[in-house]
Amino acid sequence: MMNDTMEDQKGFTTTILHSDRLLKPEFGALHQPVHTSVTWGFEDVQGLVNVFQNKAKGYAYSRQGNPTTTALEHKVTQMERGKATVSFSTGMAAITATIQSLMKAGDHIIASSFLFGNTRSIMQTYADIGISFSFVDATNVENIKNAIQENTKMVFVETIANPATQIADLAPIGDFCAEKGIIYVVDNTMTSPYLFNPIKVKASLVINSLTKYIGGHGDALGGSVTDTGLFDWTSYANIAQVLREQIKPDMLGITQIRKRGLRDGGGTLSPEAAHTISVGAETLALRLERACHNALTLAQYLENHDMVSKVYYPGLSNHPQHALAGNLFKHYGGLMSFSLKDGIDLFAFLNRLQLVVKSSNLGDTRTLAIPVAHTIFFELGAASRAEMGIPDSMVRLSVGIEDTDDLLQDFRQALEA
Ligand SMILES: *Cc1c(COP(=O)(O)O)cnc(C)c1O
Repeated sequence: MMNDTMEDQKGFTTTILHSDRLLKPEFGALHQPVHTSVTWGFEDVQGLVNVFQNKAKGYAYSRQGNPTTTALEHKVTQMERGKATVSFSTGMAAITATIQSLMKAGDHIIASSFLFGNTRSIMQTYADIGISFSFVDATNVENIKNAIQENTKMVFVETIANPATQIADLAPIGDFCAEKGIIYVVDNTMTSPYLFNPIKVKASLVINSLTKYIGGHGDALGGSVTDTGLFDWTSYANIAQVLREQIKPDMLGITQIRKRGLRDGGGTLSPEAAHTISVGAETLALRLERACHNALTLAQYLENHDMVSKVYYPGLSNHPQHALAGNLFKHYGGLMSFSLKDGIDLFAFLNRLQLVVKSSNLGDTRTLAIPVAHTIFFELGAASRAEMGIPDSMVRLSVGIEDTDDLLQDFRQALEA
């Protein structure tokens, strides 16, 4: 007989599959229904007052959440082995809410210089309104230590960087942040909770773009922030006094993110998208097993091809953080990049690919390819791209779950034409 403690004992996929059912939806439903109600009515007005005053669990207005998003948040919390999760309309909404809810003008954030482009870009916007940033090479904890200031309140890194697949010095950075009492935010999108749980490296908050591997089918946008429970919010200066009076100490951080990010910021996940993402998440482990296998196979094939000048993939033994990736992650991920040798027409090559879709998303079931310098890193300009080691001939591949031989055959015909 399965019970409410099943999540503590069962494996990753079993836990997700049975998560909704254990919340006991009506009529024995196996999926949490899509609750489209914007507002919630109460027989006794005291019930409404209690929800507003944080004295009772419940829903008042769906901008702050509804049972469908709650069920998804519960799944993400279980996947990340965390304490609590807030969901958002997109991964970017989750990131902006995290910074906006916890920082004040005059605070300082140390961030990886290899961040997702839009994350880097929103940080530049926050710099304009008074939060300061140091961007450092996060593959070495010494660079983080050297950037610390008296007003440093947050360190923000990603697990595997996109597109060049650098891996942050995750565990030593976690030790350093814990020692200094700094909020440690890890964007786990590229690895997903199936390959890695940032709680293992002492992350305070874990970001996931649910749009990518967790939803996994390129059919719904979403994002999340999970509190691992490791950070002590009671001594954190930027927690609102009114929350300190109403909320349990361990829930202060995530509650402030929900109030400021959803209630005030309004980046709320729709119940329809929450349902789509929830169903997608049921096969996260199965999809990633196949995608990671396909990616490693393709990386090894491309590495040995004489039209390819370089392959960026943590699963290759010449990757600078190959050993680190092997120690931390279950597999090496579904994202890889490669560059072609000089003189080869990049666009003609991409146009010869027949299965692989020319597209900007990642974490889809289908394999997607994009020329990096001309698209996602175009706005940066040639000088910054050169500084970041992004050659003009770089292709980023988000490897999908197609049959391995079909993928190999598509690359073979496109490279050898
Ligand atoms: C895509 C992505 C995001 C943003 O997620 P959206 O759901 O597209 O807003 C954030 N971080 C990383 C690492 C991503 O790949």
